[in-house]
Amino acid sequence: MTAIRTAELLSIGTELTVGETRDTNAGDLARDLTGRGVVVERITALPDDLAAVTAGFRDALARADLVVSTGGLGPTPDDLTREAIAACLGETPAVDPALDRWLRELFTRRSLDFPETNAKQAWLIPSATAIPNENGTAPGWFVERGDHNLVVALPGPPREMRPMWQDWVVPRLVARGLGRPLVSRTLRLTGIGESAVADRLGDLLDAGRRPMVATYARTDAVDIRIWTHAESSQAEAEALVDATEVRVLELVGDHVWARGETTWPAAVRSLLEARGWRISAVEIGLRGALLGLLGEGLAETLAFGETLTERPAPHDGHPASLEHMAERVRELGDSEIGLAVEARPRGGDTAVTVAVVSPDGSHRETRVVFLDGSLGRGRAAIAAAAVLLARLRAGAEDAAP
Ligand code: AMP
Ligand code: MG
Repeated sequence: MTAIRTAELLSIGTELTVGETRDTNAGDLARDLTGRGVVVERITALPDDLAAVTAGFRDALARADLVVSTGGLGPTPDDLTREAIAACLGETPAVDPALDRWLRELFTRRSLDFPETNAKQAWLIPSATAIPNENGTAPGWFVERGDHNLVVALPGPPREMRPMWQDWVVPRLVARGLGRPLVSRTLRLTGIGESAVADRLGDLLDAGRRPMVATYARTDAVDIRIWTHAESSQAEAEALVDATEVRVLELVGDHVWARGETTWPAAVRSLLEARGWRISAVEIGLRGALLGLLGEGLAETLAFGETLTERPAPHDGHPASLEHMAERVRELGDSEIGLAVEARPRGGDTAVTVAVVSPDGSHRETRVVFLDGSLGRGRAAIAAAAVLLARLRAGAEDAAP
């Protein structure tokens, strides 16, 4: 038995192909399998059509070591996953007496008549083992036959599918040998667009390179992922990833603000905690975007937060300066850092001015971010977090012995 290296995922149900239900199952499974070092080569959504589903299984089985399907295990005639797998393997389903007893018991326990259409949920084929479902009436199938790759069929509802996958299927797959060790590293960048990152990285992004390097434009960062599966040893893979990371940092290191899955509030919070500091913030014209981004994640390090629609009118005729407002909230929150951020639409984009006052001094900076409206405000909040983080970092470096 060789280890499972590749997988394909089938999402079955017309509700998916007409767009009524979002396919979350395949994404969840893909993420899990990828993390375990399995290459997911394809994800397919199929309607409730016997010919289409049968062909889907046949094609996927010809290519991948493991085929995982979700959906189509319901009791109704349009749920055809069992029929399709049986047709594909040339086996005949039959009612399994133990499953049949379990299923009928579920109905009598609730004083319900057993609809005979449900009987097919008790079916098995000779090569299938039932995967128990503790949250529904559709057992899954774990299908292994010497001359074939593995098939795992799970029900569609995520709350049934997920525990069956995690608790029953994964341990069995791991016991057979699931995936290869994967070395993966993510660098998070800010203040640079994805295409500019790609320009700088050049041939590092070439397909087929080992380790692989890819960029992902996310809402809070441009991520660069560097990864490879271990071929001879884990150490060899680590060394390759290390060497590529050094090259990547030479090219774009000036924009890296975090690693892995670090979020903006987590990055800010860890610097605040390192110095035992707290922050108070006032945002103007951001409609909650800044406090929405940072608030929850700053937890106890956020002493005071306020959202204003516009800068307050002062009594002496001059609008309060942003630095003054940063000072003011710092006092109100009795904290070490005061942050005041103002966003204004500017020609289809958003200008954002950030004032930070801290024991390291006072800083003010204006940036223009792409687009206005709520997208612009979201980007303005990230720009403000980036300015804040840079100030905290600079201060921490100066403070270092
Ligand atoms: P089924 O196993 O085909 O009876 O699926 C029953 C229900 O599970 C569907 O009506 C959806 O609400 C849900 N479901 C099915 N497939 C998916 C999927 N790929 N992602 C998320 N939910 C799904
Ligand atoms: Mg269905």
